[in-house]
Amino acid sequence: MLTPDDSTPDRADSTDGSVAAPITEFPGFLRLMARGLTRRCPWCGDRRAYFTGWFARTDRCRRCRHPYRRGDEAFELGATTANIILTFLSILIAILVAVALTLPDIPTVPVVVIVGVIALAGPAIWYPISFTLWQAVDLFMRRPDADEMAGRRDGTL
Ligand SMILES: [Zn+2]
Repeated sequence: MLTPDDSTPDRADSTDGSVAAPITEFPGFLRLMARGLTRRCPWCGDRRAYFTGWFARTDRCRRCRHPYRRGDEAFELGATTANIILTFLSILIAILVAVALTLPDIPTVPVVVIVGVIALAGPAIWYPISFTLWQAVDLFMRRPDADEMAGRRDGTL
């Protein structure tokens, strides 16, 4: 007979914080991307994900404890690439909107100033989202195996 002490402990509540919770239902592509673009953990969908502040990051999701690093050394390179793409898309959209709203007399100096502000602020604004978005892309491209889904792999090499 099982008593509460004999049952399997909730891995997400482990006191050392190093054991990941099992993921029983892996999200599809659209859900992964939606979670990544809204700064949620792509694994579990938690809003806190890997961030304790806008720039303060933890190695593991604060809810499910899955690490963002999945046995690779270059996760940050992918996140940086996602950040650059998001910033360039912001610049492109700003230019297109400015041109569409002001045709045929495009005010060049204000448009350049606005685009410059976006170019400087974009990387900081997109910083956490670039991490969660790249995590979602990584999870889609490199599907987790059974051990990773069960939280039996710690994300180290
Ligand atoms: Zn999570």
